[in-house]
Amino acid sequence: MAEGILLVISAPSGCGKTTILKKVMAANSGLAFSVSHTTRQPRQGEADGTDYHFVTKEQFIALRDQQPSGFLEWAEVHGNFYGTSRQEVEALLAAGKDVVLDIDIQGADQVRTNADPVTVFISPPTLAELERRLRGRGTESSEDLAVRLANAKKEMAAAEKYQYLLVNDELDQAVRDLQAILTTERRRRNPVQVNRTVPRL
Ligand code: ADP
Ligand code: 5GP
Repeated sequence: MAEGILLVISAPSGCGKTTILKKVMAANSGLAFSVSHTTRQPRQGEADGTDYHFVTKEQFIALRDQQPSGFLEWAEVHGNFYGTSRQEVEALLAAGKDVVLDIDIQGADQVRTNADPVTVFISPPTLAELERRLRGRGTESSEDLAVRLANAKKEMAAAEKYQYLLVNDELDQAVRDLQAILTTERRRRNPVQVNRTVPRL
């Protein structure tokens, strides 16, 4: 069985990455979301085991320091720890699933060195629009919001390291663009899946 694609997606917080991903995931049964571990507090509506595995700092460090590490990659982002479970990703890839990693730019750097991912950076159309979306979501304190906006500028500087840049201006277009990237990469990596039978005329 062909091994699945590792799809790494990064974006400044509030850009719309989760919204786009949920729509693309709903339309692709072969695509699995790697549920990360985090030490941040759950937001309203977030479920443990679905959005994240919410853990304490002690639990996170114990997993991180296992030999080999329980995390394929990990990073401190906006003052919290986040990590991708090695076991979860390996099991999904081995089952032939394409796996989405919603991770920050530091995590993407680590995955690039250990694996052969498809990398996508999602950008907001402007910084002002990013701020509007973050405020509109209303999930962060004003302090957390300021940290996320300050980090957005640094994260944008890493966009050129990604294979694809996707500007989330109009939501439906961004969803179509991510779907097109997935379709292209699936065909490129698994050419046998493309219908190559010459029709009998
Ligand atoms: P992220 O996962 O990147 O932090 P979210 O998916 O939570 O961001 O989106 C942040 C906010 O922006 C949400 O309120 C969402 O509904 C809104 N949003 C997402 N994409 C768009 C878009 N293209 N146009 C306008 N608002 C959007
Ligand atoms: P949020 O707190 O808004 O859910 O996520 C904040 C940031 O952490 C986002 O940039 C998100 O991509 C990143 N993130 C989420 N999970 C992981 C992970 O497992 N590893 C890394 N490196 N970053 C993550």
